[in-house]
Amino acid sequence: MSFPFKPKIIGWETTKRCNFQCLHCGTPAGAPRENELNLEECLSLCDQIAELGCEVLTLSGGEPLMHPHWDKIAIRLKEKGVEPYMISNGYYLEENVDRMCSTPLRRIGLSLDGNARIHNEIRQNPESYERAVRGAKRARDKGIKVGVVSHVSRMNLDSLDEMYSLFCQIPIDFWQVQITFMAGRMKEHTDSVLAPEDLPRVAQFLEKVRAEKKIMVCAGDNLGYYSRYDIADKPWKGCHAGRWVLGIESDGTLKGCLSLPGEFREGNIRQKSLRELWEDRNLFKLNRYFEPEDLGPHCRDCEKKLDCRAGCKVTAFCTTGSAFDNPYCLYRVEKSIPS
Ligand code: SF4
Ligand code: SF4
Repeated sequence: MSFPFKPKIIGWETTKRCNFQCLHCGTPAGAPRENELNLEECLSLCDQIAELGCEVLTLSGGEPLMHPHWDKIAIRLKEKGVEPYMISNGYYLEENVDRMCSTPLRRIGLSLDGNARIHNEIRQNPESYERAVRGAKRARDKGIKVGVVSHVSRMNLDSLDEMYSLFCQIPIDFWQVQITFMAGRMKEHTDSVLAPEDLPRVAQFLEKVRAEKKIMVCAGDNLGYYSRYDIADKPWKGCHAGRWVLGIESDGTLKGCLSLPGEFREGNIRQKSLRELWEDRNLFKLNRYFEPEDLGPHCRDCEKKLDCRAGCKVTAFCTTGSAFDNPYCLYRVEKSIPS
C-alpha cells in the first residue's frame, strides 16, 4: 500500500541568514545556522523533494535572496516538476529581478507589515519599506506576480485600512493576512500580540476588502476557523503539517511545518533520505495520529473538533504549550458575541 501522506507543499528555509532583526521574527533569523546545506546537498534535496511528489515549494529564510544559490535551486526544482515560489523581505529584490527572470520563479511574496513608518520600525531599518516597494514594482514590470504577506499585531492593527490602500497602489497581486504569534523575538514583545477577542475585527476587515475584489485577499492558516465572516475560500479541514505540508531548515532538519518550533524537529536529511524520514511511521506524529482526547480545554467540547483538530499547531503550541489547545479561534470567540 502506498504511503498515505505526501509533502505537496514545502517551505524551505534556504538560509537562516537575514539582513534584518525584525521584532516579530519567529525563527528568529539573523546569523546563518552553523552547518547549512551546500549546493550539492541542496540540489540532491531538490531531486528527492520532486521524487516524493511535492507540487509547490516556497524558498524562505532568513532572507532567501542572501543564499548564494537560490537561483540554481529554483531552476532545479522546476526542471524536476516542482513549482518554486519565494518569500522575501524585499530589501535586495530590485537588484535581483533580472537574475530572477533567468529562473522559472514567477511569484514572490513580500513581508510587509504596516505603512512605511510601522514596517520600518518592525524591521528596524529605515529603508526597508521603500526598498521592498521599489523591488515589487520592478518585479511586476518584468512579469513576476508579487504578493504581500502581513502579520497582524497590536503594532499594525489600527493601520489595516491604510496598508490595504498602500498595497493596492503598489500594486500587488495577492495579500495574505495572518496573526503574529508568540514565538522567537515576539516573546520579548508580548504586549503587541493580539488577544483572541481582536480576531473578529481583523476578520471583518478581511471580509470587506475581499468583497471589493481589488486584489486577491486571503486569511493565513492561523486566522480561523469557521468564521461568520467571509475570509476563507474553503472550509478549514485541520492543520496539514506532516501530512501534506513539510518544513525544511537550512541544515537539512525536517519539521511538519517550517513555522513549528524546535520541539517538533523530526530528523535530518544528512542522516537518512528524505523519503525514509517522511515515510517513517514513528515521525511526524503530531497530525498523523490525532486522538480527540488530546484536545485541551479551549477545544475539547467544540462541535468542530474532529475537522479542526485545534487549528494551527504553531499558534496553539506557542500560546498554550499544547498543539491541541487553541484560544485563537474565531469560531469560539464569535460564539460568545451577538451577531
Ligand atoms: S474551538 Fe478549537 S477545535 Fe473548535 S473550531 Fe476553534 S480551534 Fe477548532
Ligand atoms: S502549523 Fe499552522 S501554519 Fe503550519 S501547516 Fe499547520 S496550520 Fe499551517
